[in-house]
Amino acid sequence: MRTTIEIGLEQVVCPFCGEAKHHPLFAEGQFQMVRCALCRFIYLNPRPTKEALLCFYQDYLPKDDASVSAWQSMMESVFQRAGTLIEQYKKRGKLVDVGAGFGFFLSEMKKRGWDVSGVEISQKAIDYAKDVLGIPLQLGPLEEVGFPEGHFDVVSGFYVIEHLPQPIEFLKECFRILKPDGMLLLRYPHTTPIKNFLKFLGIQNRLYDLPAHLSDFSPGMIQRCLEKVGFKTWKHLIGGHTFPKGLGKRWASSFFGNLSEVLFYLSQERVLLPGVSKTVLAFKG
Ligand SMILES: [Zn+2]
Repeated sequence: MRTTIEIGLEQVVCPFCGEAKHHPLFAEGQFQMVRCALCRFIYLNPRPTKEALLCFYQDYLPKDDASVSAWQSMMESVFQRAGTLIEQYKKRGKLVDVGAGFGFFLSEMKKRGWDVSGVEISQKAIDYAKDVLGIPLQLGPLEEVGFPEGHFDVVSGFYVIEHLPQPIEFLKECFRILKPDGMLLLRYPHTTPIKNFLKFLGIQNRLYDLPAHLSDFSPGMIQRCLEKVGFKTWKHLIGGHTFPKGLGKRWASSFFGNLSEVLFYLSQERVLLPGVSKTVLAFKG
């Protein structure tokens, strides 16, 4: 049961298992990440209400042209890597990107010959994708669009699942709209290990980006979520790294991104460096 404790915030139970009992993990300003006492899922509690979140995301993405192009350059290599990765399994087909933002990934996949669709909750991003890239997006959230069952070869979501109030419901919908041999690609941050490390060093930070991130997933927890909604097999990868603006951030992203790729390769795809963003592929059939 949910109770509103102040305007715009609500107390919630564990989004994975429904347990109410939790332990505080890290605070950022007035916001608190907690860990479920039962399943150890990490989530924001209390968190903004659905209405507050929808309002928040209208202004979440960068607005001016320079910021949009910086964001495009930051994500470009991750999008290209993801496109190449998807094509190792499927050459062409129907793809939907959820939380499509300005539509840059869909633009890339359209160039490669894919039949693309997208869902986005920011009207500004929808307008940009249509006017600048010629990519029509549908106003989300995904669960409210109502795509037909078994419709897509691929569903993708880049840095989306950590923003969702009901990640399991989202994954169920992804599963439902995939063809029987369809696959899901998720890209997600894995922040808690860095928070632990910085706490050890006594360094203050806001790496969870609260209240934007409502959960933090490890590869193990992502796998439990995928399994819970019916996915049969999965493959965890590093999947490249972003190129953020600013020398320090860019250096850190490149250094840890490359280090994690080397470890992954040397360990014969067994070691996933904690703390860096990761990609997972999940297969329905
Ligand atoms: Zn739980």
